[in-house]
Amino acid sequence: MEERRELLLDVRNLKTSFSTFLGEVEAVRDVSFSVGKGEIVGIVGESGSGKSVSVLSVLKLLPDNGVVKGGTVEFNGRNILPLPEKEMRRIRNNQIAMIFQDPMTSLNPTVRVGKQITERLRAFQKGLSEREAQKRAVELLEMVHIPDAARRIRAYPFEMSGGMRQRVMIAIAIACDPKLLIADEPTTALDVTIQNQILKLLRSLKNDIGSSIILITHDLGVVAETCERVVVMYGGMVMEEGTAEEIFYHTAHPYTMGLKRSIPDVTEMKGERLYSIAGYPPQLINPQKGCPFADRCQFAMGVCRKYIPDYHFLSDTHRSMCWLLDPGCPNKAWKEEM
Ligand code: SF4
Repeated sequence: MEERRELLLDVRNLKTSFSTFLGEVEAVRDVSFSVGKGEIVGIVGESGSGKSVSVLSVLKLLPDNGVVKGGTVEFNGRNILPLPEKEMRRIRNNQIAMIFQDPMTSLNPTVRVGKQITERLRAFQKGLSEREAQKRAVELLEMVHIPDAARRIRAYPFEMSGGMRQRVMIAIAIACDPKLLIADEPTTALDVTIQNQILKLLRSLKNDIGSSIILITHDLGVVAETCERVVVMYGGMVMEEGTAEEIFYHTAHPYTMGLKRSIPDVTEMKGERLYSIAGYPPQLINPQKGCPFADRCQFAMGVCRKYIPDYHFLSDTHRSMCWLLDPGCPNKAWKEEM
């Protein structure tokens, strides 16, 4: 795919596996994607699609049984995969920050939120006095729109709502002025109103602190208004990638179409059941031959079960991995049939 953007992160042909009692789980299979400077990129897919494992591989935060088996991860023009743990820790401390799904498991419930922010600040900025760190912590809480920040800094996490706790997590993440912020399902545990507020906050932070953002989610609706680019993953592979407009208005993969149909449309639903893609994600121990989506795809043909399709490039920024896009495919009307 031709790239004209200035890249911050460029992941190429990443392969990650886990050893288990049942065999080797090929969780990430030849995944490539990139994040431009100042861009918000959404990585979308169901549980087990490989989206979180891909970013944990980038950060070298895999559990002990996980191993990156191939590929390159260029961050700011440098392949960081071969770096020793000490240097990776430095990158994780002050260049790439992560926001996890459940703030209650990431925040220490027995420590005031202000202390948790100042500890992060002082670990990152050696020589910062406690007083300066306190002042900066209040500023950070204000940046994430926590009202009455000077007082709230003394609160414990359990004294805050779920949305407030997620804002505190974001404040901790941006304390080190990261170049890249990775948000892994940051709104899953929140109700719709708070979810929208957090997404709005992420968008505004991109402008305020100039970070690039990776937003990992199972919900294509979440990326619709937040992301500039979207990577759709399934079975450890990238099924489709494009700008948000290409993914939503020029959808070119049956799996992406299924995800799109799963977004509830409250203006049209009249007591109908919510759409869901029938079947289950594929098993990744000795994965089946051919397209990983074949068992759930209504358009699957003989060739789909035998060979993995190549990527078809629909524009400089849009690619999709599906036999339906092959010029020789007899089904020319699949989009209308969906
Ligand atoms: Fe469906 Fe075949 Fe396309 Fe896979 S390659 S998404 S099975 S049509």
